[in-house]
Amino acid sequence: MKGPRSARNIWTWRGSTLAFEPAVTGTWHAARSGRDIAAELFLIDEDDAAVRDTQTGAILARGTRSSLVVSRRVGSVPRRIGFPDDSVFVSRDNDGVDRLLADTIGHGSRWLVEIERFRPRLIVLVAAVALLAVGVYRFAVPLLVEAAVLATPEIVPELMSKGVLASLDETVFSQSTLSEQRRAGIATGFLELAAFAPRGAARFKLQFRDGGSIGPNAFALPDGTLVITDELIELAGSDDDLIFGVLGHEIGHVEHDHSLRQLYHAAGVVGLIMVIGGDVGSGVQDLLVQGTALLALSYSRHQERDADRYSVEIMARAGRDPAAIARFFELMRARFGDVGDGAILTTHPATGERIEETRRYAAEIAQNGAAAPSD
Ligand SMILES: [Zn+2]
Repeated sequence: MKGPRSARNIWTWRGSTLAFEPAVTGTWHAARSGRDIAAELFLIDEDDAAVRDTQTGAILARGTRSSLVVSRRVGSVPRRIGFPDDSVFVSRDNDGVDRLLADTIGHGSRWLVEIERFRPRLIVLVAAVALLAVGVYRFAVPLLVEAAVLATPEIVPELMSKGVLASLDETVFSQSTLSEQRRAGIATGFLELAAFAPRGAARFKLQFRDGGSIGPNAFALPDGTLVITDELIELAGSDDDLIFGVLGHEIGHVEHDHSLRQLYHAAGVVGLIMVIGGDVGSGVQDLLVQGTALLALSYSRHQERDADRYSVEIMARAGRDPAAIARFFELMRARFGDVGDGAILTTHPATGERIEETRRYAAEIAQNGAAAPSD
């Protein structure tokens, strides 16, 4: 017993003089022993760690640092450091254990320590992923929408438009009761106006309907079919420019593919990818052809402003009153109030700001000469 004892004393001495780091206090128990001994973990040198009896200073276990098995740090759960002789040192001093062993422990445990160290960076990473997801919605979806609009075969807006008009004819519309002559006059003026649109008059078609419950209204279907109700024409009285101002606004919605864009926004990322990928499966087909999907959509404020400006531009080009659309909104507001029952107001709110802006732009266009309608 004497030899080993003196050897242990030497280790103690070396440990205390080399003292790379302060010792970590805890308890130690030998392999297959339930008896705890108050002990300290310390570094002998760069490569070796050891445990000594707190009272006697006797070395209880030792091993190269890479041979130690260090348990993962989990809250305040005591750390267990396994030695090659299967004895275990246990300490509640998590910081002390990390300080002593964090960058020296074996491969088996190192990555766990790395994760612990990585935690602040992990939080940053999670935040970055969340931001990316927001970014996808903010920026990638609009890009996907643009791609889908470009990838849409012509037959799709045609099918959509036919579907919408058919369902409206079934539910709210009835045949126009306007005189043949009145309709012909408006149709002619409309074709003259549409001739100034980049896609040309041949791509537009005007339909007259009795609006029924939707009252004075006009709207554009994505294939270039425009529908105007008798009620709107009657509301305009003898002011034909007012009618053409509204139709110019609707031509703007068609030229800018507004309804297709709104529909694709609503279709979401999966629907968009299917459209772009050319897989117009039955689900997407339903969505595209179903009138209700299109009818439920309303244009964004931005799109409305674009269509207003479009009306001003194309009316000026056609030699008509560019401010007619503003007059229409004023008429609607006077008739139905700001948020009145007029169906067109729910999709086309006649706000004072909108009227003002349209009048301002009309004055600007009148002064500078009519520019080509933006495409
Ligand atoms: Zn509009």
